[in-house]
Amino acid sequence: MTQVYNFSAGPAMMPTAVLEQAQRELLNWQDQHTSVMEVSHRGKLFMELATQSVADLRALYNVPDNYQILFLQGGARGQFAALPMNLIGEKGKALYLTSGHWSATAAKEARNFAEIDEINILAEGELRVDRLDFSEIADNYDYVHYCPNETISGVEIFEVPKVGNAVLVADMSSNILSRQIDISKFGVIYAGAQKNLGPAGITIVIIRDDLIGKARQATPSIWNYATQRDADSMINTPPTFAWYLCSLVFKHLLANGGLTAVEKRNQAKAELLYQYLDNSTFYRNEVAKANRSLMNVTFTTGDDELNAKFVAEATACGLHALKGHKVLGGMRASIYNAMPIEGVQALIDFMQKFAQQHQ
Ligand SMILES: *Cc1c(COP(=O)(O)O)cnc(C)c1O
Repeated sequence: MTQVYNFSAGPAMMPTAVLEQAQRELLNWQDQHTSVMEVSHRGKLFMELATQSVADLRALYNVPDNYQILFLQGGARGQFAALPMNLIGEKGKALYLTSGHWSATAAKEARNFAEIDEINILAEGELRVDRLDFSEIADNYDYVHYCPNETISGVEIFEVPKVGNAVLVADMSSNILSRQIDISKFGVIYAGAQKNLGPAGITIVIIRDDLIGKARQATPSIWNYATQRDADSMINTPPTFAWYLCSLVFKHLLANGGLTAVEKRNQAKAELLYQYLDNSTFYRNEVAKANRSLMNVTFTTGDDELNAKFVAEATACGLHALKGHKVLGGMRASIYNAMPIEGVQALIDFMQKFAQQHQ
């Protein structure tokens, strides 16, 4: 097989070791002579898998005991609606900090359910976050929402916004488990699995106990955090195969040095690529240095035709899915946890060759 590196933003590549284990176990999981997909989610073996996956994620991410971990469906977009349904209470409104496509989309969906105030935290005309202290006003809101990694533009926010005692909610779809964070600063963290955790179809919600049980009357059971907590995230049939794959990813990360090692690798990969971009006169990245994403690296030649040629030739060389999101154009290399540094080096080698040919 020729070596392919998959830079897809999502669904994204998964660790090879995990896929190989899934392949080995596909027809005979836990000596059942059947696959994990074909057993009852309420059976002893799957319930054990579910319990263990929660314990493993808790250990891996240092999730405090007063937080629940839910495995839900509907993706991050489902949570865009679930959050206001569950969290809007006495104050009757929420504050959304916007820094790009996903945070703005979350705010737009939330507006269907509640009064939303929105503050753009990017500096005018720049990909740079210039405001993170909202402690003066946060108390007026039931929660404050933000997106610490804007997957499309490659803008990451490394500092946690200051919101006083208000509830902070984060869409971590594209940077969950990419480095250790202090979970206790957050009320809710959520993420679709398909970037950094596993396959599409499962969504992780990490939520502080005291925020559960406040859902409005009309909240559908599948979106009600209390109902899902009480049902072990199984108020309906969960996506068992996706859950199983996530459980393997957690075990894989735990066996390979946990998040300390993950963060080191992610830093090294991103540094290598940004350093190359900074030294290049052919490509440029437009994100302010302080907000450069460790996960999604955007770049352009500044010429649409050359960009298209780059993507086509890269694909032919086994460097897949480098086309930037349609709202932004250019290129984007998503280098999530599963991307080895060899993949980043292969990309740089190709970039060098392409630049020499077209400079
Ligand atoms: C991909 C992505 C989403 C959308 O996720 P779905 O699971 O498809 O709803 C939302 N937010 C961020 C930050 C993303 O990267």
